[in-house]
Amino acid sequence: MSIENLSKILKESNNIVFFGGAGISTESGIPDFRSETGLYKTDSGQRYPPEIVLSHTFFMKHTKDFFKFYKEKMIYTGAKPNSAHLALAKLEGMGKLKAVVTQNIDGLHQTAGNKNVYELHGSVHRNYCTKCHAFYDLNLILESNDIPKCPKCGGTVKPDVVLYEEGLDNDVINGAVNAIEYADTLIIGGTSLVVYPAAGLINYFKGKTLILINKSSTPYDSKADLVIHDSIGKVLSAAIKFTS
Ligand code: ZN
Repeated sequence: MSIENLSKILKESNNIVFFGGAGISTESGIPDFRSETGLYKTDSGQRYPPEIVLSHTFFMKHTKDFFKFYKEKMIYTGAKPNSAHLALAKLEGMGKLKAVVTQNIDGLHQTAGNKNVYELHGSVHRNYCTKCHAFYDLNLILESNDIPKCPKCGGTVKPDVVLYEEGLDNDVINGAVNAIEYADTLIIGGTSLVVYPAAGLINYFKGKTLILINKSSTPYDSKADLVIHDSIGKVLSAAIKFTS
């Protein structure tokens, strides 16, 4: 039984790192925008794919339309941590899980209680003034009419989320690489491992056990010590029952 194998690994390891993709958030009802093929229609009637709307160029040129899309499609204030988030928080509390590396921007790992989280693509909960660099929470974005403005200086407030054409934060990348490099167990969940930088990052893993949990198969299945094709929430919550 693969669940039993997984709980045995969790029991024996004290240096686990979890790497998660969009599949973690979809189980909390947050859609994976990369899998949405719909086109976004701006106020001026033009149609764009989400990859264009969520680009740095679009943010600079069509700021109002950017925020309209962003508020409608990228923010889910009602979303709650699911059983995957809760199991990972429990593993960190037990001292077994050393870090979560995530491609998600919803902050649900922190809501569940995880402390050491590397958010590769940033977070909707952090927003900063592009002029004076003051930081604001999500409320400032939600309460703005069209373009969120800094109450201190009037500058445009930008979400601390990595847009297309923008680079990842060096400190976040280094922290994630370091955690993966020194882990003895790496669990990869809810990602097909085709989106940058996921595939590159897991090449740093030198530990003992590589585990892949994803509903569909991935290009790395043959390299893993344990592969489970099922819901990440279902698998982790079942495995953790036998771990404590
Ligand atoms: Zn400002």
